[in-house]
Amino acid sequence: MISDLPGRLDHFIGGAWSPSADGATFAVTDPVGNRVYAQVAAGGAADIDRAARAAHCAFTDGPWPAMAARQRARVLNRIADGIERRGARIAELETFDTGLPITQAHGQAERAAENFRFFADMIVTAHEDAFRTGTAQLGYVLRKPAGPAGLITPWNTPFMLETWKLAPSLAAGCPVILKPAEWSPLSASLLPEIMTEAGVPDGVLNMVHGIGEVAGAALVTHPLVPRISFTGETSTGQAIMAAAAPGLKGLSMELGGKSPCIVFADADLDAATDSALFGVFSLNGERCTAGSRILAERPVYDELVSRLAGRAERIRVGPPSDPATEVGALIHPDHYRRVLSYVQSGLDEGARLVAGGRRPAHLPAGNYLAPTVFADVGPAMRIFREEIFGPVVCVTPFEGEADAIRLANDTRYGLAGYVWTRDLRRGHRVAAAVDAGMLWLNSHNVRDLRTPFGGVKASGLGREGGQHSLDFYTDSRIVHVALEDARVPRFGTEGS
Ligand code: NAD
Repeated sequence: MISDLPGRLDHFIGGAWSPSADGATFAVTDPVGNRVYAQVAAGGAADIDRAARAAHCAFTDGPWPAMAARQRARVLNRIADGIERRGARIAELETFDTGLPITQAHGQAERAAENFRFFADMIVTAHEDAFRTGTAQLGYVLRKPAGPAGLITPWNTPFMLETWKLAPSLAAGCPVILKPAEWSPLSASLLPEIMTEAGVPDGVLNMVHGIGEVAGAALVTHPLVPRISFTGETSTGQAIMAAAAPGLKGLSMELGGKSPCIVFADADLDAATDSALFGVFSLNGERCTAGSRILAERPVYDELVSRLAGRAERIRVGPPSDPATEVGALIHPDHYRRVLSYVQSGLDEGARLVAGGRRPAHLPAGNYLAPTVFADVGPAMRIFREEIFGPVVCVTPFEGEADAIRLANDTRYGLAGYVWTRDLRRGHRVAAAVDAGMLWLNSHNVRDLRTPFGGVKASGLGREGGQHSLDFYTDSRIVHVALEDARVPRFGTEGS
């Protein structure tokens, strides 16, 4: 246990903490001890309604939407300062709550601060377009915040992903209702204090905890919430899209992935090995952009399999709070069982287990799994097709470029892809041919916050990042102005 853990987590609505209207709570556990450490307010329709009304009121009557960009940017920068000041505490809570290794949790806290700084910079340099039609007409764009935004986030890297949505929505001038994931509510409990201290007006940040099918569902259908930004599983995204349809809401959907990492025979094998291992085992493999299918060209296949297996066996699995740990504990016993069931499925379907596949001997309790590598994985196997979201990777051989592309695209998902080759022409060809929203060529997963983030196929709809995020949280309206005497066709003048 860590110090000063709150035993109870409440909603934050209209600038004040509050329990659920009906007093309901749910229990939340830590992934190492699997012990209940807090009771969390279980939001229902009444709590969402109160939060949506508070956000609506902040939108129609409050200072936030109309505030000058520079002033709002100052507040965003103060939020970043507040996050940086609490970086160690945020990382400590995140590690305790999610099982993420502490060194990686520190990195995520830094990224959370950077999310606010980045969007603060963006809004002070933003401009609106104007269109001149010869000398006759001028059109200029008014960009307005769209209204209260519902932000629904998953349990992997929760604080970073919450801020990835909070920063652009607040920057755009939208009050928000955040619904954190029920397995990882802890770090979000710092947000109200950080925001209030930075000068965010009451009603601009509202947070309602709760079970997805109850609190999340009520948020999705609330008539005062015109935008929903969701990150989570594809099946949940489908349910949200269906539920949001009658309200014609603007939706941003960041969903699951099963991303290929393609290693050609001419690749820098040292760099490709490092990247492939980091790509699937960092963040405990609970990472949407994990390169969870490694496709290796036949001449280097055996060598790559043996390197991956050897290195995976040496990855340090241990207590998330230990700075030496590289892979920590999986978030929840239900998720742990699900990941283990995929290991069993790989064995049942005839894949060759070359590393891991079991609980490490030195960790008799907690949701630990040794980094697991399956070789000889065929495209029909479930472990090749379904998102596992844990420290499990499949390795599949291919013969030449066309085969690599065919295998890479043999999935319903299309979030990310990684290509390793020294032949740059081929690298560009393959990068363009793989169905994925984000490709890295001879690089591991490095993000530039200006670039479009999102997936194709079952991995999502819409893009976040840079201008894409600001577009989502604003409505562009056009005003047309005549610069010359208007020549209007004259109706009703015949016979007069
Ligand atoms: P999840 O879909 O189970 O839950 C995500 C959030 O949705 C939670 O807050 C949950 O309470 C809420 N929710 C559940 N049912 C709902 C409903 N009917 N209506 C409204 N809200 C509902 O996902 P998870 O298990 O928390 O997260 C893991 C998934 O997220 C993986 O599939 C992963 O790939 C994906 N993910 C995607 C990205 C991306 O950017 N594409 C990033 C991180 C995670």
